Amino acid sequence: MDKKEINLVLKKSEKAFKIYRDISNVNRANFLRAIATEIEILGHALLDTASRETNLPITRLTGERGRTLLQLRLFADLIENGAYVEPIIEKNLRKMLIPLGTVAVFGSSNFPFAYSTAGGDTASALAVGCPVIVKGHPAHIETSRIVAGAVLKAAALTKMPDGVFAHIEGDIDVGQYLVKHPVVKAVGFTGSFQGGKALFDLANRRKVPIPVFAEMGSINPVFLFENALINDAEKISTLLADSVTLGVGQFCTNPGLIIGIESFGLTNFINLLKNKLKVKMPGAMLHQGIANSYKNGVKTMLSEKNVEITIFNHDETPINGFPVLGVTNGSEFLKNKTLHQEIFGPFTLVVICKNKNERDGIIENLEGQLTASLFAEPSDLKNQKKLIQAITQICGRINLNNVPTGVEVTHAMQHGGPFPASTDSRYGAVGQSAVLRWLRPISYQNFSEELLPNILKNEK
Ligand code: NAP
Repeated sequence: MDKKEINLVLKKSEKAFKIYRDISNVNRANFLRAIATEIEILGHALLDTASRETNLPITRLTGERGRTLLQLRLFADLIENGAYVEPIIEKNLRKMLIPLGTVAVFGSSNFPFAYSTAGGDTASALAVGCPVIVKGHPAHIETSRIVAGAVLKAAALTKMPDGVFAHIEGDIDVGQYLVKHPVVKAVGFTGSFQGGKALFDLANRRKVPIPVFAEMGSINPVFLFENALINDAEKISTLLADSVTLGVGQFCTNPGLIIGIESFGLTNFINLLKNKLKVKMPGAMLHQGIANSYKNGVKTMLSEKNVEITIFNHDETPINGFPVLGVTNGSEFLKNKTLHQEIFGPFTLVVICKNKNERDGIIENLEGQLTASLFAEPSDLKNQKKLIQAITQICGRINLNNVPTGVEVTHAMQHGGPFPASTDSRYGAVGQSAVLRWLRPISYQNFSEELLPNILKNEK
């Protein structure tokens, strides 16, 4: 798309906001439900297109589509009674939340539905009265176009204003033009740290800076405790081998780091994990660029000092990713920041700590994470409140005796974490707090009843 076409889209979006912000909650909720219905109507053809473009299997895409529909319907239910605007009525002073304006949405390659065109960012922004402009992901552009068509059809059926939703295509320059444009008032991004940070910096350099809610990569540390390793190493190694290789490791919640304290139990666990990874076959990754980055990441690890790398079932097919396990020690991990980086794919690094102090030092030195998981027996966690608190400081979700992959779509879910997992750890892309990203508070002082929005009137 050229600049002229994009400017037209932006102009329409600006105009649409003036109408859309006043559309009733019930009508906006119906719009969201109509989007879900239109996507459902697309049936198998949509799944086939997405599978052809991303190499993701139909079963996985069917689940992801279901989750996308659920998200749209959950946001519809959330807004219907208007309580999401958090009205506060205090005599002559009354406060509520209002929408920011046009939101630009960038989806990720690994979630062509749930974190893309009609995913959580789009659904939550449309829910609260913000028009959306999606920059289609080039890795699944056909899927993105088809889903955009469903959103536009739903908008027409429910009589939403022209420009309430738009889908634009192009390279990095197009995305950056969008983020810099004055009509755009906020950005929702899911993808790599490099992409999210670049857009965050760009938005902050604008004459009028705007918020960028970027959900980015993470290595999702898993902490293994002594008694759990003694009693449950078999089960834990199976769970982790499955989780590391799930979807060829292409999940932002992939457990890329496993931390334990030197012991017979940990050595036994590492051997078991190797045995389990040995039977995991390579799989086609999302696209050649992602496969190349994965292999470059593994190459970097191979050249790092004091890291033992085992590659399982290596094959020469360029698009395939194969399981890789790294093992290093705590002091090396503390020294070498390269070992802290996400390698997007079926890779995990086990860190063997000398003792608890070294492990606790690592927790202090880890960057922000989407998740942290603990495999522990109750006896392992007795008197460990401080340790648990230290872990909560570095993540958005802390998980006990469970792998981090699999993000439930529910209001109690937090999907986001301290920087660099997200650019704003106060909100997440899943659940009801997602809508707060696109709203700001306004106080009305000394306004007569008739001039106040209905939700702020004494008698509604
Ligand atoms: P990506 O390369 O960052 O791309 C995401 C989107 O951002 C694309 O539309 C891309 O457009 C655009 N983009 C990237 N860099 C840009 C820049 N400098 N300027 C303007 N636009 C830019 O990410 P991906 O490869 O699709 O996804 C994989 C990554 O996403 C992994 O790191 C994974 O952990 C992360 N992820 C995170 C979450 C989460 O919820 N935290 C969920 C899923 C995935 P172009 O392609 O046109 O450049």
